[in-house]
Amino acid sequence: MGSLKIENVKKAFGPVEVLKGIDLEVTDGEFVVFVGPSGCGKSTLLRVIAGLEDSTSGRVLIDGEDVSVTPPAKRGIAMVFQTYALYPHLTVKNNMGLGLKQANTPAAEIDRRIGIASSMLSLEPYLERRPAELSGGQRQRVAIGRAVVREPKLFLFDEPLSNLDAALRVNTRLEIAQLHRRLKATMIYVTHDQVEAMTLADKIVVLNAGKIEQIGGPMELYNSPANEFVAGFIGSPK
Ligand code: ADP
Ligand code: MG
Repeated sequence: MGSLKIENVKKAFGPVEVLKGIDLEVTDGEFVVFVGPSGCGKSTLLRVIAGLEDSTSGRVLIDGEDVSVTPPAKRGIAMVFQTYALYPHLTVKNNMGLGLKQANTPAAEIDRRIGIASSMLSLEPYLERRPAELSGGQRQRVAIGRAVVREPKLFLFDEPLSNLDAALRVNTRLEIAQLHRRLKATMIYVTHDQVEAMTLADKIVVLNAGKIEQIGGPMELYNSPANEFVAGFIGSPK
């Protein structure tokens, strides 16, 4: 299970209100994409869901349970960042397994999960390498693999393709889509790229200056944008 409910979430940094009352429901297994211009609050919203930031007010519920005081590690969430955030001194295998080890998962179970994830992500040849010995695309696959082995209820991706070149962006995007089909997991994916949003999403959430402009399926937003902002954002390729 991995449903999410966000109720009137607000977040201010000092006097600046960055999230101005967000309401959203994500059902189990859905692929939801947050789009919007730089600075509109996408990463902040993701970080509030993950528990890496406290909201100023409002509630976040995972599978119906208010997680406002639940620490990040106990929320059943795994996050993938634009910058990979791998440990340079650890091998691929140990980067993937570290979180499980810290949670006292038995070694055989860690190995089993790494075996499955590395097969899904074609990482088997690289398990003994360190991040510096990998390409950007391979590093991002390791970061995705590290999320997969944790078997989270919710995957959060924050612009995971932004540091990759065009060809790798397409490949990695397809791998993420395939992962979603295979795992049937709930995924929330942040991007400022319309193509990524249109191709990956079951549901797109268009954010602008800390508020939701519109929520809908890709074709719904494309064909019936609620306003000029959505039309400009979804309608016109960059
Ligand atoms: P996005 O991911 O959509 O580009 P962010 O959520 O990163 O936007 O940021 C939204 C706004 O909040 C920006 O104006 C940013 O400068 C501000 N912001 C984000 N994090 C902090 C912070 N820790 N302290 C102060 N301001 C922040
Ligand atoms: Mg961001």
